Amino acid sequence: MKLAILSRNGKLYSTRRLVEAAREAGHSVRVLDPLRCYMRISNSGFLMRYKGKPIAGYDAVVPRIGASVTRYGCAVLRQFELMGTRSPNSAAAIARARDKLRCHQVLAAEGIGLPDTVFGDNPDDTGDLLTLLGPPPHVVKLNEGTQGAGVMLTEKLSASRGAVETLRGLYASFLVQEFIAEAKGADLRCFVVGERVVAAMRRQAPKGDFRSNLHRGGTAKAVRPTRAEAQTAVRAARILGLGVAGVDLIRSKRGPLVLEVNSSPGLEGIEAATGVDVAGTIIGYVAGLPAQANVDETGN
Ligand code: ADP
Ligand code: MG
Repeated sequence: MKLAILSRNGKLYSTRRLVEAAREAGHSVRVLDPLRCYMRISNSGFLMRYKGKPIAGYDAVVPRIGASVTRYGCAVLRQFELMGTRSPNSAAAIARARDKLRCHQVLAAEGIGLPDTVFGDNPDDTGDLLTLLGPPPHVVKLNEGTQGAGVMLTEKLSASRGAVETLRGLYASFLVQEFIAEAKGADLRCFVVGERVVAAMRRQAPKGDFRSNLHRGGTAKAVRPTRAEAQTAVRAARILGLGVAGVDLIRSKRGPLVLEVNSSPGLEGIEAATGVDVAGTIIGYVAGLPAQANVDETGN
């Protein structure tokens, strides 16, 4: 198989591991920076080029699209799809997963557990909006934040109001959630490939924080998810149309709740914590995808 890894940086652990795994499996593989892919869109045929040379003949592409390049990266990926290259995650699914609010709406409609969440636009509605959620503590988060930056815990109603007003002042899109205190700063990253959780880790926030992101100093340990947790993770990925996903769950009194679904989950933390060859599993999955598997039919 001729494979492209769409990644801004070939030196990143995740990218290097995917290249290594692809070579080990005997595939030809190349890292392409999505921001260096450019295209001609024409009725007489698509054309994509990279540093002056045509991009052609790729059987599959593994997208590693960072949050800062979602729009352009997804346009490039869409172009690959239109040229018949298969991908475990479609451009549509990645764009969908990046929007936390949209994910929450779609997943809740399918009966997936989530922390109760509110959002609103007009400052005149803030009081009633927060009443709908119930008493604090609340978690206020940026709609498109990553790595725990932009996630705040507000212990008092005045702090929730203040955070909401500040974000509105910055024209940022946000949502407010109930705080799941019983999780005690831990969450569960379930790495889904296809229809399986192939590796899972429990992440614990550092002392004094409630955010368990490894980028915020969280620590990770391999765990075996319960059957309900694994099912929730696999269903969430499937509903969003993702073949490869990092599903973050929080353990609550009412069962596993989905916090977010990452469409380009990092490999370093999960491989280190679990010892699983996640990169090899992804490459194996991609190699087995039927042609045109990326045609998005979920419509969410
Ligand atoms: P990001 O996209 O920045 O990672 P998340 O929504 O995943 O944002 O939140 C980051 C971390 O904050 C989570 O991994 C979890 O540890 C903690 N957290 C987020 N939402 C809640 C919540 N409603 N209750 C308790 N902890 C939460
Ligand atoms: Mg997260």
